[in-house]
Amino acid sequence: MHSTHMKLTILGSTGSIGQSTLALIEQHRDRFEVVALTASSNWELLAKQCQRFKPKYAVLTEEQAVGHLEKTLKTEGLDTTVLYGQKGLTHVASLQEVDTVMAAIVGAAGLIPSFSALSHGKTVLLANKEALVMAGSLFIQEAQKNHATLIPVDSEHNAIFQCLPSSFSVGCKPEGIARLTLTASGGPFLHTPIEKLASVTPEEASAHPKWSMGKKISVDSATMMNKGFEVIEAHWLFDMPPSSIQVVIHPESIVHSFVHCIDGAILAELSQPDMQIPIRAALAWPNRMVSPIPSLEITELNTLQFLPIDRKRFPLLSLAYAVLEEKGTAPVSLNAANEIAVEAFLARKLSFMNISTVVHRAIEKLPVRSMTTLQEVLAADLLARTMTRELIER
Ligand code: NAD
Ligand code: MG
Repeated sequence: MHSTHMKLTILGSTGSIGQSTLALIEQHRDRFEVVALTASSNWELLAKQCQRFKPKYAVLTEEQAVGHLEKTLKTEGLDTTVLYGQKGLTHVASLQEVDTVMAAIVGAAGLIPSFSALSHGKTVLLANKEALVMAGSLFIQEAQKNHATLIPVDSEHNAIFQCLPSSFSVGCKPEGIARLTLTASGGPFLHTPIEKLASVTPEEASAHPKWSMGKKISVDSATMMNKGFEVIEAHWLFDMPPSSIQVVIHPESIVHSFVHCIDGAILAELSQPDMQIPIRAALAWPNRMVSPIPSLEITELNTLQFLPIDRKRFPLLSLAYAVLEEKGTAPVSLNAANEIAVEAFLARKLSFMNISTVVHRAIEKLPVRSMTTLQEVLAADLLARTMTRELIER
């Protein structure tokens, strides 16, 4: 069955997930064909990726970068077509010749192109959790309506997915499953005294002890907003009520989740904390692909710890549960407010502790509306961004 040749678009190919995906594809060149690559502004890296993978299309969303990429590709004699902006992204996410889309853009910017991939019945490997946080119900409906396959790449969700029978379809409640537990490493500040958190720098917040990731998700991991988003993500992917999704601290990041069956059995996937493992599992699904990453030594797993989480230390996790209960546009506001606050923190315009304060304030102020269309999602997103920016400026 290995003759299957996968034709891929990689949204966000210059990011941490995008680069890991390409590194993996490079190990199996005969099985994958890269049709399109995309980035926001890093045209130098995108040019290098084009040289290596010879895609038909390359997309940039920052206008100034387009000319640079075009010139470089021309000098190198490549006939890759360069496209620009959201239009370019949705175009390459929905190309007829593409069967699989790796959705690895960070943040709300990934919503429309990954949605478009679902509308066109593609297999979507979803790393971009913010898309599900913002538009979970619409996203799942769109996948079901168009018989698109959705496979989670986020390590916790991919681990759960691996534990479920291959007949399981994302968005449906898995049979015989009572509840889910997501593990959290605790991030870089698990043991930092709370009074010291006020003065941590973007560098400290981005230095995750176990995973190497993009800047935004690293900060989200430090505030535990990431785990809150993952609770919302699990709710939509596995149709579980929020009360059936728990979080435990697991500093070693070896067990990626627990699936609790109704008969008392617990299933789990264990591996090194390396995103190539869930990415490979998603690309190979429902089969398996051989990996150069060494498997764990079982006899070295004697010290795994699982600890209850201190909600006072991580108030954004509780906020995510509250927002999930509210439904409607509340999760859209949470995602947008957090994106703006993290951006301000990374630009040293907001302290680490104030990320949570600002997000809480924005959520208190913003209206919660029901939403049934993507336009309503985008309107709520815009409103939340504007209001959060105002809160930060004051
Ligand atoms: P990253 O910052 O390293 O890369 C983001 C990619 O998106 C880059 O290619 C960038 O060019 C592109 N991009 C950024 N803003 C854009 C915009 N406005 N328009 C178009 N493209 C844009 O991020 P990452 O760590 O690779 O994470 C990607 C997604 O995967 C995130 O949603 C993250 O939560 C999720 N995720 C990441 C990891 C990880 O280990 N890095 C693990 C689980 C889930
Ligand atoms: Mg995760």
